[in-house]
Amino acid sequence: MTTQIVYSSEFNRHDNIGHPENAERLLVMMKAVQHAPFYNKLSFIEPTMVSEELLFSVHSKEMIQQIKDISDQGNSWIDLDTYVCKKDYPTARLAAGGVVDACQNVISGKTDNAFALVRPPGHHATADRSMGFCLFNNAALAAQHISKLGKRVLIFDHDVHHGNGTQSIFYERSDVLYQSFHLSPHYPGTGAINEIGTGSGKGYTVNAPLFHGAGDDVVSCLLDEIFIPIARQFKPDIIIVSSGFDSHHADHLGGLALSTDFFGEMIKRYQEIQPKLVCTLEGGYNLDWIGKCLLSQIGQLTSHPLVFGEKTFEDKTGEQIVPLLKKGLKGFWRL
Ligand SMILES: [Zn+2]
Repeated sequence: MTTQIVYSSEFNRHDNIGHPENAERLLVMMKAVQHAPFYNKLSFIEPTMVSEELLFSVHSKEMIQQIKDISDQGNSWIDLDTYVCKKDYPTARLAAGGVVDACQNVISGKTDNAFALVRPPGHHATADRSMGFCLFNNAALAAQHISKLGKRVLIFDHDVHHGNGTQSIFYERSDVLYQSFHLSPHYPGTGAINEIGTGSGKGYTVNAPLFHGAGDDVVSCLLDEIFIPIARQFKPDIIIVSSGFDSHHADHLGGLALSTDFFGEMIKRYQEIQPKLVCTLEGGYNLDWIGKCLLSQIGQLTSHPLVFGEKTFEDKTGEQIVPLLKKGLKGFWRL
């Protein structure tokens, strides 16, 4: 197996020291990768900027212009959560381009799989609005690029927050399937169980809102009963994983209870459906743990799985979501 890591120190120009989504996150993760036992098996590639043609095919010109203007003038905020730095227009294009490059390299067979270690994150950015720490939607831009090649794309989002942006961009489409589990109620408030797509996209959005404290066992059952059977029937040509490590039990912005090892386990289950797989970094804010979560996933990508084995405490008493999902989706998939 060959695994590419897409990374650039340019991502760290996007920084705000008092903000949870800061440059320290990537520095911690790169340090973990450099000390990993499989380090010599990885190939590191520098990203290229996403083309403006692709950028404008997903995002509105007003939204792109807003980022450009702040990027030219200096630091500012798009909303209460989302900062934009000077020169962020090229930085955000580089982040999105990194995921596009990773997917292109996997589809063309240059590498078996890849992890795009990019910032700023992307999954909250809608077609016309940057929000939730996200400027452009990296995963969606990559999925758009691959779908234009006539390929089917599955996006699996395990961030603790619902990827409202990714969902909305593909909500009416059947060639890009979006699956997300997330804490609910929680930011940004979307991702209800009855949000399943519309028009020809009906059935191609799958949302599992989970209760506070849900962990490995609850998610494992959800994958076995719903997400993986649908993925198998969808037959994706590539899988993009929105890797948010804020679903880890120790994350300050979270509330789910996944163990470190489970991040690798989720990759393993999806590799059985389609080994052409690209992870792209979304959230994850506990600097003591995000490096380990990353190694759990890259270990699985390189066929050198690591075991961290920490004890977690999971609440299993919340509402059981699997029967509700089966009921809502049975007209579209064999479940
Ligand atoms: Zn998140």
